Amino acid sequence: MELVVDPSLAAALGPVTREVSCKICPQRAALHGVADFNKSCQIEQGRHFPLSGIPVWYHRCRGCGFVFSAQFDAWTPAMFRTHIYNAQYLMVDPDMKGTRAEIASHRLIACARERNAANLLDFGGGEGHLARILSAKGLVTRTWDPFLTDDEPPEAGIFDLVSCYEVLEHSPTPRETCARALSFLKPGGVMVFSTLSVDDLPRHSMDHWYIAPRNGHISIHTKRSLAVLFGELGWRVRQVSPAVYMAVAASG
Ligand SMILES: [Zn+2]
Repeated sequence: MELVVDPSLAAALGPVTREVSCKICPQRAALHGVADFNKSCQIEQGRHFPLSGIPVWYHRCRGCGFVFSAQFDAWTPAMFRTHIYNAQYLMVDPDMKGTRAEIASHRLIACARERNAANLLDFGGGEGHLARILSAKGLVTRTWDPFLTDDEPPEAGIFDLVSCYEVLEHSPTPRETCARALSFLKPGGVMVFSTLSVDDLPRHSMDHWYIAPRNGHISIHTKRSLAVLFGELGWRVRQVSPAVYMAVAASG
């Protein structure tokens, strides 16, 4: 089945400049490479969708190694819904409502028990699939997704635990997204988040499956960029599995 591209896509993508400021650290980021808009994470399974003919450019920071596209910087949530998180999104992320959320729920329940956490916010939780699983397992959970909803956000500073699964790689504004997610924590609270760091990308290589515009993967972190990002906000990150991290207050 073919991925249909909305005719307004090419005009919606922002301009490309050869060098921009890194979104994470004070260094500069030069153009790194280009991917067809229809490149998806499904290439990891050997599945390639027909190309759209619409290029998406990525930069790479020479300091922290963060790889990102600046062409979505002016997009509104509605534009993301039109072009990326639309009815065809399940084709490029078929497991969105499947086993990944179940696995995430085991980790979050264990973390909540360990830390006596009574409530959790699933930040960026889409339509609330993970939140429903967690609530069914007895952990009081709310969900709020700045990409998908125009609903009022929850009150800041009231949650023991914030989960932020598959969010950071989708955010065109990593600092703001991270600061926002962390703002919902009570003092002493922790955030558990997932993202896959790509640390050894060859120069100009766009072959990695995780660099996937059609999945909305426009911010590809390295371990270094995660440490800088959270460090500047006053948090430390600890890796708990290949693609899952815990952030704790640096002062805690
Ligand atoms: Zn950087």
